[in-house]
Amino acid sequence: MAETTRLISDRSARRIAVIAMHTSPTASLGQNANGGLNVYVREICAAFSERGIATDVFTRRGPTDPAMEFLASNSCVIYLPAGRDLDKYSLYDQVPAFANQVLGFAEREGSYDMLFSHYWLSGEVACLLRPQMPAGWAHIAHTLGLVKNRTLAEGAHAEPALRIRVEGEISRQADLLIASTGEEATDLVQGYGADPERVVVVPPGVDLSVFQPIDREEARRKIGYGPGRLLLFVGRLERLKGVEVAIRALALLRDRAHDDVRLLVLGEDSKDGDESEMERLKAIATAAAVRDRVDFLGSVAHHELPYFYSAADVCVMPSYSESFGLVGLEAQACGRPVVGSGVTGLRSVVRDEVSGYLIDSHDPATYAERIGRLLDNPELAQQMGRRGRLLAQRFSWTRTADRLEDLFDGVVERAQVRVQAGARQE
Ligand code: UDP
Repeated sequence: MAETTRLISDRSARRIAVIAMHTSPTASLGQNANGGLNVYVREICAAFSERGIATDVFTRRGPTDPAMEFLASNSCVIYLPAGRDLDKYSLYDQVPAFANQVLGFAEREGSYDMLFSHYWLSGEVACLLRPQMPAGWAHIAHTLGLVKNRTLAEGAHAEPALRIRVEGEISRQADLLIASTGEEATDLVQGYGADPERVVVVPPGVDLSVFQPIDREEARRKIGYGPGRLLLFVGRLERLKGVEVAIRALALLRDRAHDDVRLLVLGEDSKDGDESEMERLKAIATAAAVRDRVDFLGSVAHHELPYFYSAADVCVMPSYSESFGLVGLEAQACGRPVVGSGVTGLRSVVRDEVSGYLIDSHDPATYAERIGRLLDNPELAQQMGRRGRLLAQRFSWTRTADRLEDLFDGVVERAQVRVQAGARQE
């Protein structure tokens, strides 16, 4: 292990410790907490690896994880034993022990130029590490508790004061805060007291070579569907994703002679206490008399998704909050129109009336009306899909990594000046 990491650092321009305590970049996507954050970490580490920047990703060890494995040639995942089955709030108590293990690793294997923390729990790990490491620190929240609490779905649990307090601490201490959208940057400054000089908007990306339009017939054959119109939902099954709105819209569409339409739901339960969102959604589909029209297909591997997007007529995203909404970007990259909620994250990806429809409510009738418009007018759907592909071409992980690399260079330089000034004072 020691030899492997030394080899990596020798070849590398920079060494970055990526803290992803909450969820692992190697976890299968669409279940529990595994979604956009995991895709982000994987893609950025792969892009950094290509340009000779080494990343060690620190995450929790699951029952079948090794001690470490490669994510890319210049990127390792280090699995640390910590709070295996705990929920995110109980995991908070494990933060000091997790931070100590990262510190021990860095002392044994070589120090880092940068800490790059993901989500509030990892941000707290970085808060503890920073005074003990001469590294710069960039943080990305992925979601913010204050923002989530503003638009909670009915019956959803509010994010606790602990999370909001920790997010505030991180926002005031990190050298650099990466926001995915301008609105998130404003929330960091106005909601959490971050210094605007340290907040930078860097949109995430999409792999356009993987997410591209595939012939509809071929895509349907591949996923085992024939003719008939298909709506698609992709994501972790939790209340904030609003899947029930899509189910109720399907029931309304069916009443209006769209009786061949099916809804494919990709993703697994994201546990919130003991409640299963999938079971709740199945009950809603049964009560709305469309259970036979909704297929719950579980998690699907990321690289298989282009077939699902390309097979679908419309991708539906009725989320109550999205800090970005990679699914909308991926659907557009595959040339499919998106009907989703007008939350800020989706607004930065989907253009209302151009590449789909954005709806400022969770009214199933409005969803049914917009979806119906696209189903009844395949030419319009195709046109919106083509425009969506063009919009998606503005985003790429290479571009995201370029921007992060530049920003990190500045942070590392400032951290070095700080360390030298500290040494002169001693
Ligand atoms: N995803 C996947 N398989 C699934 C469900 C989701 O690969 O079965 C991926 C999806 O393609 C997207 C990510 O998980 O890249 C979800 O990201 P998004 O930003 O849409 O939502 P988040 O999880 O961040 O709330």
